[in-house]
Amino acid sequence: MTLNTHTHSYYAATANALEPFPVLEGTVTADVCVVGGGFSGVAAALLMAERGRSVVLVEADRIGSGASGRSGGQLIGGISGEAEIIRQLGPSGAKLVRDIRYIGHEIVDRWVTRYSIACDWKRGWMEVATRPRHMQALRTYVDERRREGDGADLKIVEPEEIGRVLGTSAYHGGYIDPSSGHLHPLNLCLGEARAAADIGVRIFERSRVLSLGGGARPWVQTERGRVEARIVILAGEIFDRFGKPKLSGLMLPTGSYIIATEPLSEGLATEINPQDLAVADSNVVVDYFRMSADRRMLFGGRCNYSNRDPKDIAGSIRPRMIQIFPQLRDAKIDFAWGGRIGIVINRVPAMGRLEPNLYHFGGYSGHGISASHIAASIVCDAISGTTERFDLFDRIRHRHLPFSGQFGNEMLALGMLYYRMRDLI
Ligand SMILES: Cc1cc2nc3c(=O)[nH]c(=O)nc-3n(C[C@H](O)[C@H](O)[C@H](O)COP(=O)(O)OP(=O)(O)OC[C@H]3O[C@@H](n4cnc5c(N)ncnc54)[C@H](O)[C@@H]3O)c2cc1C
Repeated sequence: MTLNTHTHSYYAATANALEPFPVLEGTVTADVCVVGGGFSGVAAALLMAERGRSVVLVEADRIGSGASGRSGGQLIGGISGEAEIIRQLGPSGAKLVRDIRYIGHEIVDRWVTRYSIACDWKRGWMEVATRPRHMQALRTYVDERRREGDGADLKIVEPEEIGRVLGTSAYHGGYIDPSSGHLHPLNLCLGEARAAADIGVRIFERSRVLSLGGGARPWVQTERGRVEARIVILAGEIFDRFGKPKLSGLMLPTGSYIIATEPLSEGLATEINPQDLAVADSNVVVDYFRMSADRRMLFGGRCNYSNRDPKDIAGSIRPRMIQIFPQLRDAKIDFAWGGRIGIVINRVPAMGRLEPNLYHFGGYSGHGISASHIAASIVCDAISGTTERFDLFDRIRHRHLPFSGQFGNEMLALGMLYYRMRDLI
C-alpha cells in the first residue's frame, strides 16, 4: 500500500475542499516546528498557535493522508494501555487515566464549534461482547468507572436487550458510552488544518523531513528546505527513526482495513443500527463499524500485524461483515482501503524528549483520534511550562523490540496470532 496522498476511500471521495499547501523551500524560522500532518501534528500546531506561538508544520505527503484521514472515525474516550499506566504508576497513574479520558472530546467539540468544521460529529458509541466472559469484563469495567465517579452515563446493554440496539444476534451484550461517538476523520483533520492556517500556522505539504536535531537551536531538514525553531515536535505515528535509538523498535506499523457499502435504504440502516452508534467489539484484534452520514455501512478490522496488505481487502473484510449482519449480503461494496497504525508493545502512547527541545509523541495502537488530541495537549502543556502529565508519561517504561523493520513485524505478528486465537476461544 502506498501512503501517497489520500487513498481511494469513502473519506477521500467526500472530503471538504482544501487548497494544497506549498512545498517547503529555503530556510524558515519559527518558535515551534511540528513534523507530521495527521491529527497529532495538526492538533499540536493549532494548540501552539492558539497560545500565540509562531508555528511551522511540515508534512511528508498531504494533510490527513496517513491514518488520520483513513480511520474508522470512532472518537473513543481514553487511550490504549490504561491498565499498564496504572500498573506502572499506581494511584497517580489511575488519576492520570481518569483526568485525561475526555480531553480529546473536549478539544474536538471546541474546535468543531469555534472553527465551524463540518465533519458529521455525532455522539453514541458502544463496545459489544463477542463472548459471554467478555460481557463480565465489560460489567467490571463499567462498575469501576462508576466507582471512580466518571461513569454515571455509561449504560449496560444486557444480552437479552442487544437485539433492540443492533440488528444482529452475534453479541452477548455490551455497554454504551453516550459521550463518545463518530465523525468523518479526514474532514476533521482538514478542518483543523484550515483553522490552523487561518490563525497563522505555515503548513508545508510534500515536504518529508529527512533529518532533524535538538539542542539550543533545533532544526529539521527536507529535500528542498530547512526549518530552524526553538522547539521541534515529532508528532504522531511517524515510522522514520532519524537515527534516534530511543525510537528504534518502539512503534511498529500495522495494517487495518475498512470497507464501505453503497448507501443503504433508510429501513435497512434503521434495522441494523437504529441509534446510529459507532461500535467496536471486545476482541484484542478488534472489528468496528458505524454508518456514514449518507447511510453506508463502514466496517473495519482485521489488523495485519505482518505489515503486508491483503491483496483483496473487500474479500477479506466482507465475510466478517456478513457474518454479523446477514442483511447486508446484497449490499455492493463501493470502497475498500487500509492504513497504518502505530502499535507500541505495552500499548501506552509514547511521549518524551529525544534531545532538549526535541519532543516526540505517538503510538496509539489503533485508538488514536481522541488520544492524538489528548497527547498533543499534554505535550503542548509541557512546552508551555505545565509538565505534570507529560512527566508521568515520560516515566513509563517501554519495551523496544530488538529488531525493527520486517523482522520486528514478524515477531509482533506471532504475538498477535496468540491473542487472535485467544479471542476465538
Ligand atoms: C484503517 C484504520 C482505522 C482506524 N480506526 C480508528 C478509529 O475508529 N478510532 C480511533 O480512535 N483510531 C482509529 N485508527 C487510528 C488512528 O487513525 C490513528 O491512531 C491516528 O490517526 C494517528 O494520528 P497521527 O497524527 O499520530 O498519525 P498519522 O495520521 O499517520 O499522521 C502522521 C503523518 O506524518 C507524516 N510523516 C511521516 N513521516 C514523515 C516525515 N519524515 N516527515 C514529515 N512528515 C512525515 C505522514 O505522512 C502522516 O501524514 C485507525 C487507523 C486506521 C489505519
